[in-house]
Amino acid sequence: GAPNDPLPIRRLQESLINRIAAGEIIHRPASALKELLENCLDAGATSIRITVKDGGMKLLQIQDNGCGIRKADLPILAERFTTSKLSTFSDLSRITTYGFRGEALASMSHVAHLSVVTKTKTETCAWKANYLDGALVEAKPGQTAEPKPCAGNDGTTIIIEDLFYNTPTRLSALRSASEEYSRILDVITKYAVHNPKVAFVCKKTGSPSPDLSTPSSSETSHAIRLLYGHSIAKDLLHSTFSSKSKPEDEDMEEEEEVEDRESWTAEVHFTNANYQSKKMVFLLFINHRLVESSRMKRALEAVYSGVLPKGASPFIYLSLQINPRDVDVNVHPTKKEVHFLNEDSITDQISDTLQRALASQSHSRVFEYQT
Ligand code: ADP
Ligand code: MG
Repeated sequence: GAPNDPLPIRRLQESLINRIAAGEIIHRPASALKELLENCLDAGATSIRITVKDGGMKLLQIQDNGCGIRKADLPILAERFTTSKLSTFSDLSRITTYGFRGEALASMSHVAHLSVVTKTKTETCAWKANYLDGALVEAKPGQTAEPKPCAGNDGTTIIIEDLFYNTPTRLSALRSASEEYSRILDVITKYAVHNPKVAFVCKKTGSPSPDLSTPSSSETSHAIRLLYGHSIAKDLLHSTFSSKSKPEDEDMEEEEEVEDRESWTAEVHFTNANYQSKKMVFLLFINHRLVESSRMKRALEAVYSGVLPKGASPFIYLSLQINPRDVDVNVHPTKKEVHFLNEDSITDQISDTLQRALASQSHSRVFEYQT
């Protein structure tokens, strides 16, 4: 045929479709780990222990002491769109857990070897199950695929082995093991700051000492000191604030509803004008999920550009809680960049608060010098 003749359109194989879709959700070991961490936190864990081999490409193991998974649920655990966190469409608007679409474990089973050891409080022993391509599989040829009883503590251990073994392009897009490992540590560090009451431990397989370890029942400022160092902690300011409170008048129910829609709270820990870093460290959690907002980041950068010398940057940890109805949770999970209702006005109010705090702080410093 002529050079321009169209090729026939063919339907992709199911397994290939699943693998492509999974690769879009799980980009690299650190993104798999983020999903797994959120599952642990959703399960109410107070202790999370992570073990990593070869930057997570060989092994990513995460053990929690959360609620565990019911044995009866194990057969469908790694199927796509199976979740314990959402049952009706209206649930979507008040979702408070991290995950809700039941895609993480399914995705991992399409691009890695996934195994699970889990025990609920009421179960007398733990159960171990292995998964491939969304379904239970036998651990070794000749064995059954049924979950097997085993010893184990209350909680869940998820084991991800040979990530991207069947997607060579994904694998080759990864950096060195040490760089992937530092991305993993970065994700854990941020979640550890945001969850100071949860103990986190992360180590490499075979290493006697952890690379990251936090106690449970700590405070945010302690966690920041522990994880980011004393030089940040000693120059840290702290503020908690919220949008205008709703009117008390009981006759104004409808307006109250409107005000309620706009209410939000923010907790922010940020360095003062004495602290200067080469690169801005910005931790943003919206409704407890680690996200990115370039708009918020730029606005806060602008605040500091009036306080810090050129080339110097701050550390900022910002935890925003917005009415779940006002956050678009339905955006694809790969989109780390979030959008929410009244984004401009919320960003402005947070910038103003930081601006005032920094101004009054530098003012009082001048005052101190004068006395
Ligand atoms: P989602 O978190 O969106 O529900 P996942 O694929 O991440 O989807 O997890 C599927 C389900 O598996 C969860 O809804 C939860 O019931 C269960 N699960 C996963 N990880 C854990 C865990 N660490 N502890 C308890 N249950 C878990
Ligand atoms: Mg999840």
